Amino acid sequence: MTVTGAAPAGFANDDLEPVADDPRRERDRRRVQLALAYRLFGALRWGELGDGHITARDPLAPDHFWMLAHGVSFDAARTADIVLVAPDGTVDGDPRLVNRAGYHIHRPLHDARPDVVAAAHTHTAWGTPFSAERRLIEPVTQEATIFFEDHALFDDEEVQILGLDGGRRIAAALGPRRAVVLANHGLLTVGSSVADAVAHFVIMERVAEAVLKAPGARPIGAEAARTARDALNRPGNGWRTFRWLARRHLGVDPLDAAELVGPATTA
Ligand SMILES: [Zn+2]
Repeated sequence: MTVTGAAPAGFANDDLEPVADDPRRERDRRRVQLALAYRLFGALRWGELGDGHITARDPLAPDHFWMLAHGVSFDAARTADIVLVAPDGTVDGDPRLVNRAGYHIHRPLHDARPDVVAAAHTHTAWGTPFSAERRLIEPVTQEATIFFEDHALFDDEEVQILGLDGGRRIAAALGPRRAVVLANHGLLTVGSSVADAVAHFVIMERVAEAVLKAPGARPIGAEAARTARDALNRPGNGWRTFRWLARRHLGVDPLDAAELVGPATTA
């Protein structure tokens, strides 16, 4: 495992995500983390209608990504249910299929952002109604500053993404940022790992809730918002948040996730 960056002594909240040096081991690790991430969405009662998708780029074939097989309830996701999606949308080595809209949205995102390992999207109680306001998030809370000058609005009426062209336009709106509000649809986040993308999705949903609950909120000033954003965006913040979420909602540390969702073994 490789961990980059130095953590100052005496603080417990600077641990970084362990990434495998060997791409086969990293593939296995991503599959396990992805199954855990779907379980987390399920625990939060997201994806009850089959809506939403989380994907992870394959480290061995970077033009392929992993996602949950269609029909598996998020709360029951296991590593064996995470399937490999080829560039044309077919599933490698598994007779099961995947969510069509998920392919339409995520394929162009992974193509456009080689720095992105994972992307997360589903329809949520606050993020989706916020998206109907068709605007950016103002920095009205401490957590909201994480997205200050680092998210976009896909202001488009294609709310059911019918093809890869819709996904390409979402990717263009996202640009180099960490998140995009899909107008009249919901939130979407990307990250340097499954944990990073999913943790920031959960944070963004909390931010959308705060924005809608405080319509008279006065935003934090731009300079203070940038200072807070840069402090909160320390390396590993998404990983640490994901660990908190998994422990709280699933009773497992992501380091031990295979105990819950089953191991992965690359052939
Ligand atoms: Zn959607």
